[in-house]
Amino acid sequence: MVTAKHRIVIVGGGTAGISVAARLLRRGHSDVAVIEPSDTHYYQPLWTLVGGGHAKASTTARPEASVMPRGATWIRNAAAAVDPDNNTVTCVDGAVYEYDVLVVSPGIQLDWDRVEGLADALGSGGVSSNYRFDLAPRTWDFIKNLRSGTAVFTMPSGPIKCAGAPQKIAYLASDYWRSQGVLSDIDVHLVVPTPRLFGIPAIADSLDAIAADYGITVHTNAEVTSVDADAHKVGVTATGGGGSDTMLSYDVLHAVPHQSAPDWIKSGPLSTGDTGGYVEIDKHTMQHVRYPNVFSLGDAGSSPNSKTGAAIRKQAPVVVANVEAFLAGRPLPASYNGYASCPIVTSSHAMLLAEFDYDLNITPSFPLLDPTKPHRSYWYLKKYGLPFMYWNLMLKGLA
Ligand SMILES: Cc1cc2nc3c(=O)[nH]c(=O)nc-3n(C[C@H](O)[C@H](O)[C@H](O)COP(=O)(O)OP(=O)(O)OC[C@H]3O[C@@H](n4cnc5c(N)ncnc54)[C@H](O)[C@@H]3O)c2cc1C
Repeated sequence: MVTAKHRIVIVGGGTAGISVAARLLRRGHSDVAVIEPSDTHYYQPLWTLVGGGHAKASTTARPEASVMPRGATWIRNAAAAVDPDNNTVTCVDGAVYEYDVLVVSPGIQLDWDRVEGLADALGSGGVSSNYRFDLAPRTWDFIKNLRSGTAVFTMPSGPIKCAGAPQKIAYLASDYWRSQGVLSDIDVHLVVPTPRLFGIPAIADSLDAIAADYGITVHTNAEVTSVDADAHKVGVTATGGGGSDTMLSYDVLHAVPHQSAPDWIKSGPLSTGDTGGYVEIDKHTMQHVRYPNVFSLGDAGSSPNSKTGAAIRKQAPVVVANVEAFLAGRPLPASYNGYASCPIVTSSHAMLLAEFDYDLNITPSFPLLDPTKPHRSYWYLKKYGLPFMYWNLMLKGLA
């Protein structure tokens, strides 16, 4: 039995869901419901600075109620299944919501268990991750207290949110250790599954120089596949040609988990059906390829962009324009070009802002600054400008 019907139902009140809800309400749509179980909304991009000792965790969290747009119906529940043939979402407590249009944006799942021993190791013995709100401050504790030894920073294979985050923390930590005069006593390793540190050669060249300047040993085409917390060792496995299998000991380990669509999406009818299991959408219109009244954006969507809040800023207006056209029976007018930006913090006072589209064309917002090099002004953008823009403009549907 249907619990309630809404014209537009949005699953997930994170970056994507709230941005879309706010824009729809601004454009006069009155029956918008957001299914969101969490009492707290997080600004995750600042977790890197929390782990690097440059921001407090508390500044990244606000009550969900404070970001829920006025006029939206907040359903405090978690979606468990979608039945797109009957236009319904069923929640974990059995409540069923019917929709005319569904927007799916429940974010990405952190698959900690895909690295043997990692889940149990987290939070003690030098092992942490900026990918969890509660652990980002532990990252800083471990970095701050290290005076000599070995530090290992990891990135997993497969799509992850903010693919730059695994290396940003390596640069912030190295910069801190240098400022303390101990960098030369710390052996820093960065393990990445890709052939280079970035997909765009000019930016990869720049990052190679930064890593070399800190004395970081970069292991390419490799990923960490096991953590032995008792022995303080990680197993590294080659992901492709040029990579090699090895063991590294660590005193500090910053680990990033493999990621995929939430299990209930993966096993449901909206999924691509492959291992990632994301919501299968057209990469330009953001409309589901089989169910025209279903749209998706953000980390849960299958569009092959870099999974970032910056991408969502460009996706949200496209989804809203296309939902509106769909409801009016018009052809979908809006198209997303894959824009994403990856703000790579390279020290306590500099940042490189990589902006690009689906074809890896560099698309700088500030063309006067060389987009392949770090700049001091971008550091202030990251620390102050972007959080301000997020809370005050993006979540209100104004940017
Ligand atoms: C360490 C780190 C650094 C980052 N750095 C940057 C950066 O510098 N720049 C940048 O642009 N991006 C960055 N990101 C990425 C950015 O935060 C994400 O891409 C963005 O938040 C994704 O938005 P989303 O709405 O898809 O998912 P989220 O914002 O994660 O929101 C998903 C929402 O869905 C809810 N939900 C989950 N399950 C259900 C369910 N079953 N039913 C209903 N609701 C559900 C959750 O409670 C949550 O509120 C970073 C992320 C991390 C972790």
